[in-house]
Amino acid sequence: MEYIRLEEKLPPKEYRSDIEPTWCPGCGDFGVVTALTKAFSEERLDPTAITLTSGIGCSSRLPLWMNAFGIHTAHGRALPAAVGARLARPDIPVVVTAGDGDIFSIGMEHFPHTARKNFDITLIVMDNRMYALTKNQTSPTSRHGYKGSLNPYGNIEDPFNVIKFAIASGATFVAQSYSGNPKHLAETVQAAIEHKGFSFVNVLSPCPTFNKVDTFKYYKGRLIDINKELGHDPSDMKAALELASHALDADNPELEDAEPFKGKRPIGIFFKTEKETFEERVAQLKSKFAPPSGEVNWDEILAKYRP
Ligand code: SF4
Repeated sequence: MEYIRLEEKLPPKEYRSDIEPTWCPGCGDFGVVTALTKAFSEERLDPTAITLTSGIGCSSRLPLWMNAFGIHTAHGRALPAAVGARLARPDIPVVVTAGDGDIFSIGMEHFPHTARKNFDITLIVMDNRMYALTKNQTSPTSRHGYKGSLNPYGNIEDPFNVIKFAIASGATFVAQSYSGNPKHLAETVQAAIEHKGFSFVNVLSPCPTFNKVDTFKYYKGRLIDINKELGHDPSDMKAALELASHALDADNPELEDAEPFKGKRPIGIFFKTEKETFEERVAQLKSKFAPPSGEVNWDEILAKYRP
């Protein structure tokens, strides 16, 4: 179903609420707010017909700063809330804004299943590679050796490759971007919203307050655009998986010099394909089995399930 759209574009600032963000100055997540407002404006979306859902964490406050409907859910539960909103109103776009701890740990069970069912939802994860709101604990994407508040000797785990996992789970749009590159981020977020099906954008988003390793300074000169610089075709799943396996190589000293990355981390659209959405399959079922009058005979339906 087509989204509700305005006749004319609104300026991006019209998608901001009048609530001042409480994020720390210099937080990477500000870049995501800017990218979203630009994408909403370009897509001519109606602020009264956009749903944002979030869980818990610094990044999950994002819907408060936006002029759109928002559902601030329990920790890790932004995706199921998004699915409910999506099924209730398929004409309204649903964007989930979340953090790495929220989606890849607490709410991890929802991520692969929402992806494989291909709900038309956009998931934007602000990946600062640790839990910030609770003051610097390691998250699933924290690098090996990272010293969080509960890991004074360094993280003994390896980070989770979320790009590879998303592709393997059946996501039909998988990308990575960086909050320090506004143009790339805005274009990637807009492409994700335009995509029909489950779209996932992992945004490398520094937390200058706690994470003193994955900083804007660290990322400077260390990112490589796989589409523009390497000519990657996102329809090629095999190549996408190969590139995704380098998504964390910069953390691995043994692979630090591997071509073509040489210690750089890839950004861009890794994978993109077209597939029927869950909502389309529901509509097909309804058109096949619902009575022509549109009236559902619940007695008849329930009788099928009675012993
Ligand atoms: Fe951003 Fe970190 Fe401050 Fe949270 S603690 S608002 S992630 S800079």
